[in-house]
Amino acid sequence: MPHALTSAFVSDQLALRARTVNAHPERPTGEFVLYWMQSTHRFADNWALRFATREANRLGLPLIIHQGLDPTYEHANDRIHSFILHNARELAQRAERGGLRYQFVLRHRRNDDGRALDRLAARATLVVTDDFPTAGIVERTQRFAAHGDCRVVAVESHAIVPAALFVKEEWAARTLRPKVMAHLSHALEPVADALPRVEASNALWNSLEVDRFDLTGNLTGDLAAEIARCEIDHAVPPAPLKSGRRAALARLRTFCDDALPRYDERRNDPADADGSSRLSPYLHFGQVSTAEVARAAIAAVGRPGAGRFLDELVTWRELALNFALRNPNFRTLAALPDWVHRTMATHAGDAREAAYTREQLERAETHHPLWNAAQRELVATGTIHNVMRMYWGKSVLMWTATYDDALRYLIHLNDKWALDGRDPSSYGGIQWCFGKFDRPWGERPVWGTIRSMSLERAYRKFDAAAYERRWNGAA
Ligand SMILES: Cc1cc2nc3c(=O)[nH]c(=O)nc-3n(C[C@H](O)[C@H](O)[C@H](O)COP(=O)(O)OP(=O)(O)OC[C@H]3O[C@@H](n4cnc5c(N)ncnc54)[C@H](O)[C@@H]3O)c2cc1C
Repeated sequence: MPHALTSAFVSDQLALRARTVNAHPERPTGEFVLYWMQSTHRFADNWALRFATREANRLGLPLIIHQGLDPTYEHANDRIHSFILHNARELAQRAERGGLRYQFVLRHRRNDDGRALDRLAARATLVVTDDFPTAGIVERTQRFAAHGDCRVVAVESHAIVPAALFVKEEWAARTLRPKVMAHLSHALEPVADALPRVEASNALWNSLEVDRFDLTGNLTGDLAAEIARCEIDHAVPPAPLKSGRRAALARLRTFCDDALPRYDERRNDPADADGSSRLSPYLHFGQVSTAEVARAAIAAVGRPGAGRFLDELVTWRELALNFALRNPNFRTLAALPDWVHRTMATHAGDAREAAYTREQLERAETHHPLWNAAQRELVATGTIHNVMRMYWGKSVLMWTATYDDALRYLIHLNDKWALDGRDPSSYGGIQWCFGKFDRPWGERPVWGTIRSMSLERAYRKFDAAAYERRWNGAA
């Protein structure tokens, strides 16, 4: 039996996941509770929406769900805009069918009205939003909470096991694994979501002073035309991956039926595009929840059968979240352990095989065809196969004038081109290339004692030539 929204289970989870951002009291004259959807782009299995619904019921008020898209976020581009907008169209249809009041505001240009959220908040009793440590969301929430006069609560829905249970920075997968795995079954218990008790009247809905973007009705032309009008980077085109919860759930089903039983071996072959779930973009934008993915995997092959997959989905993903939450330097070399700093200091002056600029890397203009293939996969699709992603990151460490350049260039490339980029797992993955979560290995030039990975060895491990042909074919 799923837990009710009013259950002690939900109360306990929310006590861990919800964080009051400012000291303002609730506005007694407020007309509704506002859920400002920022990083969890779904209605199902959404802890912030659950919190907002319970608060609306407590106060006897209706709930308004607001999502906005501005041209001002870092690397704003067609790829990210398109993925968000196509999902929003699906959300609008679901809201209409399901009796939720959901609106989307698309601010095309920087000079367009940017005060929709402030006007809504001025009439709200409290504002509930998503708690997410990357993609500029925590900063945006803090700015908003500081200048408004309304209580703001941020709720974390990214992790299966509430991140608040781990208050210190974890050093490695092995330190977090036993802790998250001990909580996993309990955290996966399902909840029966329910609509807010008080409906928002048409009069209230129509009185909200926002320029709603029409996602369901008479939208003439397609979303591409709207995106073309936005003041964003049009050089990063939409990725071929279909956005939206429907596509995410279809992909999850296919993965559980076909690849999951042999995930352990199939995930190691970059030529086998379907050997891993390829759910990271959907998970990054919260179109599907990690708990839903874990439940489906366990239902398909049992918990022991899903063991390796759960290790990536839970241990590694939540290790990255812990890193982004507990280490304020997660984007810089300062986040790395002392042994890495010592070895980098020793090897800072070592001769490099190459010293590429960020632009050369971005244009896939290195001497190595396998690396260029990975960069082209990133540019073309918005992701890189996990195995090639490790080679891609590790190689750059060897090919720039300094370690600091390497880290900055990788973050730039990943944040800009990756559909699953700007995620805690982005910074966890990139910093792993520099020794984060790892231990010292044998000493080598430039690498020092950081674990090395040579592109030449990749040819012996999988059909790297086929991968190269696939992505360099047209180059
Ligand atoms: C240099 C580098 C950069 C990376 N950048 C990103 C990124 O921008 N976004 C991102 O989501 N992941 C990133 N990763 C981690 C990992 O490569 C991807 O999560 C994975 O390849 C996504 O493919 P999938 O969905 O098929 O994964 P699956 O193997 O099917 O795993 C399921 C899910 O578990 C999570 N996951 C898997 N591996 C890891 C990992 N090592 N660390 C954290 N979470 C993991 C992801 O959410 C993934 O979707 C990076 C790794 C490296 C080495």
